[in-house]
Amino acid sequence: MSYLVLARKYRPKNFSEVSGQDHVVRAIQNSLKQNKVHHALLFSGTRGVGKTTIARLFAKALNCLEGITPEPCGKCANCISIDEGSFMDLIEIDAASQRGIDDIKELTQNSQYTPTQGKYKVYLIDEAHQITGPGFNALLKTLEEPPEHMKFLLATTEPEKLPITVLSRCLQFNLKRISENEILLRMKDILDAEKIEYEESALSIISKSADGSMRDALSLLDQALAYEDYKLSENNVIDMLGLIDNKYALSIVQSILSQNSEKLKEQLEQLDSKYPNYNDVLDSIASITQEIAYLQVLDTSKVDAHTEVVELSKSHGPEIIQLIYQIAINSKRDLSMAPSTKEGFTMAVLRMFAFQLSESKTSPKKEKVLAEKKIKKSGPLENGKSEKYIISSNNWTKQVAKMNISGAVRQLAANCFFDQIDSDILYLKIYSENEHQMIDRAVDDLNSYLINHYDGFKKVLIQIEKEDGDTLAGEVKIKNKEQIIMNESRASSDPVVQEYVDLFGATIEETK
Ligand SMILES: [Zn+2]
Repeated sequence: MSYLVLARKYRPKNFSEVSGQDHVVRAIQNSLKQNKVHHALLFSGTRGVGKTTIARLFAKALNCLEGITPEPCGKCANCISIDEGSFMDLIEIDAASQRGIDDIKELTQNSQYTPTQGKYKVYLIDEAHQITGPGFNALLKTLEEPPEHMKFLLATTEPEKLPITVLSRCLQFNLKRISENEILLRMKDILDAEKIEYEESALSIISKSADGSMRDALSLLDQALAYEDYKLSENNVIDMLGLIDNKYALSIVQSILSQNSEKLKEQLEQLDSKYPNYNDVLDSIASITQEIAYLQVLDTSKVDAHTEVVELSKSHGPEIIQLIYQIAINSKRDLSMAPSTKEGFTMAVLRMFAFQLSESKTSPKKEKVLAEKKIKKSGPLENGKSEKYIISSNNWTKQVAKMNISGAVRQLAANCFFDQIDSDILYLKIYSENEHQMIDRAVDDLNSYLINHYDGFKKVLIQIEKEDGDTLAGEVKIKNKEQIIMNESRASSDPVVQEYVDLFGATIEETK
């Protein structure tokens, strides 16, 4: 098979083939239908989203021999010659190189002559923001009083650099970045038309790498096809794009979540032997956890998710996923300060591994009153104070804010609310969604702190409150208060560690 240039071969030949820009296409087609076409259009958007493609289709629709039409025939001499790039009355100018006053003057002078082949002379100025100030001034005169037969199409990635005088004379269309899914569908169509076999996961990777640009996607597809002789497999695409990071990132995330230290060690060694870009691996870990979180929160049927990712989303709680994401992002910031990027990366992964969510430790006993804890009456109070305070529903949150506690204990206290004191027992409540805060050690510590610092009870019991309509408002209130308390306590220990503890209710495992 001869080498294909897919981006060119599959450049949309009619409006219905344009991906992801329905809003623009519809507006243009309506104006064509009603024969009310503005004389100057501005297409803005990032690279490869279809600005010049749409502009050319527009030129075709104006000059098709079937008459002005919302969908050019594609078969007449004019349509064919526009597709081939040989149409005399479509004049394409790259403002990156033809940007000065002389270029623009020449252009506007020529625009006075009637078209030779079609009905309209269409000027397509790409990278229009690069035109110089005097160039714009020369252009302005023509934009103000254009000859009947002339249309101006401006394309730019930076519309904000165009003078307001020019902008105000153009009808502006903003083209969107094209979604991964739309890119994926377009590539499928093309490969089916070319009868080329492919693994869908390979296309997913390409559409992700294309970052919203159809042109980039098709170029990558071309490269990938050339790379492996017109077959498309995930492994080869990964190799071609240098995406070893992604492959290892997933297995590293799996080992962290399953707490398999043997495997993790092996993976770190293998990864290092590939000379990876550790920054990219952290990016991939963040992407994977983002995908897992997406599945957990929004959609369990996202079509292009890997089965491994779907499984992880089902077998692990959202908190640990959020935590790994946060560590990945934060560690990227620290990578440049680490003795080496390898060490910085290893440290980040070990941190992900070391943080154990309390969720996995406490058994899910819903609604059950937690077993009474044996309270040790411990020594003298802080600051030598012997005076104890009274706690009540009125001052509970204020008191929590003042308590000299930190980490998991503070987190627990912040999530509890005062219920009542009855027969020497202080009853606290915690919403079932925060039940995972009740790690044994934290419960013990909070209980002894309360008993040592407050009067009016000899035992503390934390009960789990089922959520229902009545408590939702209170829950929101509590959450706000919790935030204030957490902010106050942030400075109390290592800020990074504290951040994770605060955000996710994580605990730090002591080494065995
Ligand atoms: Zn035609």
